[in-house]
Amino acid sequence: MAKLSEHFSREEFACQCGCGQDTVDYELIRVLEALRSNTGPIIISSGNRCTKRNKAAGGALKSFHVISKAADIIVKGNTPAEIYHHLSERYPDRYGIGLYSGWVHIDVRGGAKARWDENHS
Ligand SMILES: [Zn+2]
Repeated sequence: MAKLSEHFSREEFACQCGCGQDTVDYELIRVLEALRSNTGPIIISSGNRCTKRNKAAGGALKSFHVISKAADIIVKGNTPAEIYHHLSERYPDRYGIGLYSGWVHIDVRGGAKARWDENHS
């Protein structure tokens, strides 16, 4: 296990196709560690996606998963809505935060923030 920080290892962010893409933006790790200090364990349901895998998963063409700046997360003991609101309040002017029925997407994009709620769109 290649440890990236106290609670996360590189393997957790690896592309699920097995291609070996497992880079992680350090800012993303910082955001996840900050969240982890307020919650239980965080499961990375999707970290990196190579272009091929991203296409197969139906991801956006310019998905931040492709450039190692995004993670879809599930937090034990919290609903996705709770995590979505927690992150939105903590980072009112930054990042991409998306609420899905089973997980929360967080990306550390530069520039303008983005918010979306797949349950109400
Ligand atoms: Zn891949």
